[in-house]
Amino acid sequence: MSGIIPPTERSEPAWWFAFKGDRLLVIQEPSHLSIPCLVDFSEMGLIASCQHYLGLLDGRHCYAVGLNDDVTPPAGMSFEGLRKIYGRLDENLFWVAARAVQIVDWDRTHRCCSRCGTQLVTSPSFRAKECPQCGLLQFPRLAPAMIVLVERGTELLLARSRHFASNMYSVLAGFVEPGETLEEAVVREVKEEVGVDVKDIRYFGSQSWPFPHSLMIGFTATYAGGEISLDDMEIEDAGWFTADNLPSIPGKISIARKLIDWFIAKQGKAPTK
Ligand SMILES: [Zn+2]
Repeated sequence: MSGIIPPTERSEPAWWFAFKGDRLLVIQEPSHLSIPCLVDFSEMGLIASCQHYLGLLDGRHCYAVGLNDDVTPPAGMSFEGLRKIYGRLDENLFWVAARAVQIVDWDRTHRCCSRCGTQLVTSPSFRAKECPQCGLLQFPRLAPAMIVLVERGTELLLARSRHFASNMYSVLAGFVEPGETLEEAVVREVKEEVGVDVKDIRYFGSQSWPFPHSLMIGFTATYAGGEISLDDMEIEDAGWFTADNLPSIPGKISIARKLIDWFIAKQGKAPTK
C-alpha cells in the first residue's frame, strides 16, 4: 500500500490518521472504533501541523496528520493510544495507523538539520527530509531489534523485564548494535540477559513495532548450554516453562505472542486465549 506522492486531484473520501502526540483520533462507534473518512481533513475543523501521504488501502487513499497538543477532539471522537485500541479497530486500519504514527513522530522530531542547523524541507519524491544548505538527508528512524524464542526440548525460555506489566513474561528481545548481524545480536542478547548459549538460529518472521519506531525481527533458537544467570539491570526473573504451565504472556498484537503460540502449537497443545 505504500506511497509517498499524493494524488494531484482527489474527489473521493480518504482515511485520515491524525495524531496528537502518539494518540490517534478515532470515532467512537457503539461496537467498535473507526477512523475519519473525508475528502479533506479541514472538514474536521482541526488544524494539521503536518500532513504526509501514506498510500492506498483497499483502493482508498490514506494520510498521516500531526496535530498540536492543544487540540480537542470533535464530538463523538477521542484520542487513544494504539496499544489500547488493538482489537477494537479494523486490523488493516490499525497497521496503517502504526505506520502513520511513526511518520508523524519523525516529522515532529526532524525539523532542523543535525549537521548545520538549517530548517529541513520535506522531499517531494521520497520519504526523507533534506537540508537545503548542506544537502544532508534524514530518513524516518527505524531501530532493528531481534526477538527470539529459545527451546529446550518441551520447554521454552521466558523472562520478566523490569519494564513489563506485573507478572508478565515474554521471550527475549534486544536492539541490534552497529556492525552486528541479526544472528550475532541473538547470541549476544541471550548470553547477556540470561547467561545461556543458543544454536540453530532460524528466522521466524518480522513485525513493525511502533512503540516508538522498531522493526522486530523474530527467530527461534535451541538451547546449547549454560545455566540461567540474570542480568539484574534488565531482567527480574527468567525460567524454563512448558506449554501447559505458562505464566502471563503478551497479547495477540505482538510477534512475541506469535512465537509463543507457534511453540504451543508445536507441542500439540490448544492455543491460548
Ligand atoms: Zn545541513
